[in-house]
Amino acid sequence: MITTQKIKIDIQNPEREIILQASDLIKHGEIVAFPTETVYGLGANALNSDAVKKIFIAKGRPQDNPLILHVSDFNQVDELVFTNDTAKALMQKFWPGALTLVMKAKEIVPLQTRGGLNTAAVRMPDNKIALALISSSGVPIAAPSANLSGKPSPTDAQTVFDDMNGKINLILDGGATNYGIESTVIDITDEENILLLRPGSVAREDIENFLNKRLNSPDKNNLKRSPGTRYKHYSPNIPVYILGQKDFSESEFKNAGYMGLTEPEIIFKERIIFNSPEDYAHGLFAGFRKLESDGVNFIIAELPLNAGIGLGLTDRIKRAAGLQ
Ligand code: AMP
Ligand code: MG
Repeated sequence: MITTQKIKIDIQNPEREIILQASDLIKHGEIVAFPTETVYGLGANALNSDAVKKIFIAKGRPQDNPLILHVSDFNQVDELVFTNDTAKALMQKFWPGALTLVMKAKEIVPLQTRGGLNTAAVRMPDNKIALALISSSGVPIAAPSANLSGKPSPTDAQTVFDDMNGKINLILDGGATNYGIESTVIDITDEENILLLRPGSVAREDIENFLNKRLNSPDKNNLKRSPGTRYKHYSPNIPVYILGQKDFSESEFKNAGYMGLTEPEIIFKERIIFNSPEDYAHGLFAGFRKLESDGVNFIIAELPLNAGIGLGLTDRIKRAAGLQ
């Protein structure tokens, strides 16, 4: 079994020797968990199939669910994918940031990284630790969320440790992440038909306003283009229901947990109330894990308004409830 080290690192000014220790592991084909502005990632050299394979094994992730390649430099992108003018404009506007762009892949990106597809997903994270790690490694870093496959994504280093202890060498502990839900993924292969594959931390409206055009949803035949959305995701080990989805007795509610923006009238064993949709997004996954470890029998989650960050938040809650 591997010994997993968790090291604190300064988010504003990442210590050079810690970054070097981490990038050395990446260069040697090992995995390092690190913070991004969205959730913690499980990173490996994206151009090394064997290293990337270790991520799939550590997470128990289906092999056909591709990974996002994280870059620290705009020039890296052209080595990995065929870009176009719209993609370039989006990068200038939203990077570093939580917008992932899917484009036609170049041969250099191994099939293992792109789940066998002819496209690859790329983004530049807005986190100094992540950027320092990528640039010190000298390669793009493939990184899915650092949780066991299907579980809620980790928003702090201890949660990564809980899921990954004994499976990876190093966790860089840069404190809690900013957003709490993952990046927005759009497929920009066809500039005339841009697809929103996964709503996330960058609001759909912000992208549409910038491009002055609507993002389309992948139709059923196109689902193959968005492999991650085929699997149940983000769920704790106990059932999650949307508020109003199912009737329960008073005594059942008394053993349940509640998460939402408004105070419930029903009495729950435990409640987590958020002040804003942003707060809710930030605390959703940690809330799932907290309620589960506090021993509630199931979780009732209130849906936010389906706009702005609420779109991604609604998506994650519905998936956790097995409704999407
Ligand atoms: P995760 O790394 O767990 O946040 O998941 C990455 C998301 O990006 C999943 O929903 C993937 O399906 C999606 N993704 C990554 N690469 C591609 C690609 N080449 N085409 C479509 N979706 C992708
Ligand atoms: Mg994930």
